[in-house]
Amino acid sequence: MSEQAVPAVGAGDPARAVEHGARVDLLGFDAEQLGALCAGWGERPFRARQLMRWLHQRGVADPAAMTDLARVFRERLATSATVDPMRVVAEHRSDDGTRKWMFDVGAGEAVETVFIPEAQRGTLCISTQAGCAVGCEFCATGHQGFSRNLTTAQIVGQVWQANHALGAYEAGAISDGPRPISNVVFMGMGEPLQNYAATLSALRVLLDDNAYGLSRRRVTVSTSGVVPMIDRLAADCPVALAVSLHAPDDALRDRLVPLNRKYPLAELMAACRRYLAHAPRDFITFEYVMLDGINDSDAHARALLARVRDVPCKFNLIPFNGFPGSGLRRSPGERVRAFAARLAEANIVVTTRKTRGDDIAAACGQLAGEVQDRTRLAERRRGPQPRVIAVEEIR
Ligand code: SAH
Ligand code: SF4
Repeated sequence: MSEQAVPAVGAGDPARAVEHGARVDLLGFDAEQLGALCAGWGERPFRARQLMRWLHQRGVADPAAMTDLARVFRERLATSATVDPMRVVAEHRSDDGTRKWMFDVGAGEAVETVFIPEAQRGTLCISTQAGCAVGCEFCATGHQGFSRNLTTAQIVGQVWQANHALGAYEAGAISDGPRPISNVVFMGMGEPLQNYAATLSALRVLLDDNAYGLSRRRVTVSTSGVVPMIDRLAADCPVALAVSLHAPDDALRDRLVPLNRKYPLAELMAACRRYLAHAPRDFITFEYVMLDGINDSDAHARALLARVRDVPCKFNLIPFNGFPGSGLRRSPGERVRAFAARLAEANIVVTTRKTRGDDIAAACGQLAGEVQDRTRLAERRRGPQPRVIAVEEIR
């Protein structure tokens, strides 16, 4: 957009942002917020819908190119608003087609976004925070501690920039060609329900017919179990919910997922049942990282079955992605298969996550260990390194 170096801000209080002379980042607004912003400029509601389509369906950032908007409106956009893509710090491509981008989110922090192509769908795994305060024992992001919340513009920006990089806008509007991104999962860095406001606006943009138009079943929020916010999400935007379980009993889960001390399993299961009351034909996906000798015995599987008895669910078993200093090991393949069999015997659908993008360390839950955790950088450098195929800027 314009060359003027005025800081962009995300949504929040658009009126205040304008008042302070900062230009607002248009990617940070859901339909209602964009409507309010445009109304403040004296524009009618359908103008906000047109703008939404230019931004998200056509990937256009420059108001001068938004040909069906009135000249006065375009001028207003050029002076008061911006689209401010994040700098791409690095991009990796895996032999299996998986792609990973590392985005600069300010203050020296970076987050990662992963695209996983499959025969029937393309899944984008996005981040909501730099670092994470939950501090799960098996998670590289958790080991870094919390750094900062992403803005809505930065969460939506991952989808916008990935669509650009994947050529989704080349046919014109994303709806005109085959869509590379058919599903979005909030399984990158951070705990989405501890950055709720920004996550909610981003979800609304993903579902909006004038933006990405994804059905709510194709958008999955993954949480370590922030019980009150599970209820808020049920009321505000009941997309598909994945819950990171990892243990059948409180003693073990207190250790692996420290948030369990605040919201123990009985409360978490009750929240899952309430969530499904808002989305009756749905199910919860329970994620379960398989840790050798820690949570992977047949006894654990039996206890798990008792624990989830009242919750319509599927299980996703995740082979642990090791990182230096974790002190944990991945369960052997035969143990994972036996564990899956115990669950399947009780008629529960079980999938075991493929370790996609292994050569670029792109698996969900393993994100952004490399640049972020500077204390461990030297240690990592001694280990096997992700292969960097290309580093490019898409600004
Ligand atoms: N904070 C949210 C979403 C991000 S983590 C959550 O915890 O659900 C996304 C998934 O990756 C979670 O299921 C998490 O448990 C898993 N994960 C984290 N670290 C991992 C690792 N080292 N190996 C495999 N999966 C991991
Ligand atoms: Fe945070 Fe999720 Fe990692 Fe736990 S697994 S530390 S909640 S990102």
